Formats: sequence, structure tokens, C-alpha cells
Amino acid sequence: MAGAVGAEWTALSREIRGCALCPLHRTRTQTVIYRGGEHPWVVFIGEAPGKAEDLAGAPFVGRAGAKLDAGIARLGLGPTEFGIVNVLKCRPPANRFAVEAARTCRPYLERQLALLRPQVVVTLGRWALRSMDPGAPPIMTAAGIPRPVGGWEVYPLLHPAAIRSRATAHRWERDLGTLAQWLNEQRR
Ligand code: SF4
Repeated sequence: MAGAVGAEWTALSREIRGCALCPLHRTRTQTVIYRGGEHPWVVFIGEAPGKAEDLAGAPFVGRAGAKLDAGIARLGLGPTEFGIVNVLKCRPPANRFAVEAARTCRPYLERQLALLRPQVVVTLGRWALRSMDPGAPPIMTAAGIPRPVGGWEVYPLLHPAAIRSRATAHRWERDLGTLAQWLNEQRR
């Protein structure tokens, strides 16, 4: 696992690794907790680990991860300036997002954000957005528009794995461009 913010982070990570609060603990290879810098400016929140992540123990290391990394490079973020987490820390069977498990797992995400204290939270896909903001509009409406949620500056994006058509690729590029501009304004 890359990235750590002291003893509290280490203790939280240990707690997550030993978690058996929902049925997903039975089918995981290992928990997937974090990838990124110790004090990230931007934290990306994905939905759940897939097969590659479950095997590697790190978020976004498969094909969707390659797309995300390319997007992060386009935003001009250095390796210590961002972090990546998922709502669910264990892979759901058949990669189907488990809503009940997400409710159980949610406090871990809150504690991670409280320790990492990013200035910007970027949600990837509808489940990550709903996890931060249950009342948010559908992802195709919300993506690309910053929204303050519970003290966080949240910027919704599509999930990189959802980019399967020319239209979604165009939308991804457009929203990334808006995010890059918005981040540059925040840096000033
Ligand atoms: S998904 Fe979350 S709540 Fe469920 S076992 Fe894994 S860490 Fe625990």
C-alpha cells in the first residue's frame, strides 16, 4: 500500500484488513485500501475493487486504472498530489456493486477522508457519487459540475470503466478538461 498518514492511518488500515462486517469478506482475496500520496490535494473515489485490484491489493490497477492514470496525468497532478480509494474495500462477486455492503463499509471511507483531508474529492461513477451525496442527480447530469457536499468540494466524473462509446469518451474528456481548469483556479 502506498501512502500513509501516521499512526491513525496505520491503525485504520489494520482494522479494514481484518474487517468481517459484511459478507464480502468471505470472497475477497484481500482488502483494497489506498493508493497515493500521504497528503493528497485531490482524492479520487471509485466504487469497488475489481479482479485486478483484489489480486494486487491496490485500487485502480487494471484497465480502468490505466484510463484513470492517464486522466490524472492530464490534470497535471504529481504522484504525491492525489490519492485513490474505493467506497467498498472488498471486491463484490461478479463486480456488481453491493449497496447494502456499501452502507456497512461507508464509515471507513469517512475516516479515510477525515485523515487524508483533501481539498477536492472526485467521485468516479454513480455509486461513488451517491455514496457522497445520496440526493445527487443521475451521473450523466451531475458529471462535470462541482458540488459542495457535507464540507467537501466534490467533483463528479463518469467511472473510467464506463467509457465504452465515442459519446462517453467525449464526455470523459470534456469533464476532465473542466476539472483541469477548475483545479488550476483552486491553485491560484
Ligand atoms: S466491504 Fe467493507 S464492510 Fe464489507 S467486509 Fe470489506 S471492509 Fe468490511
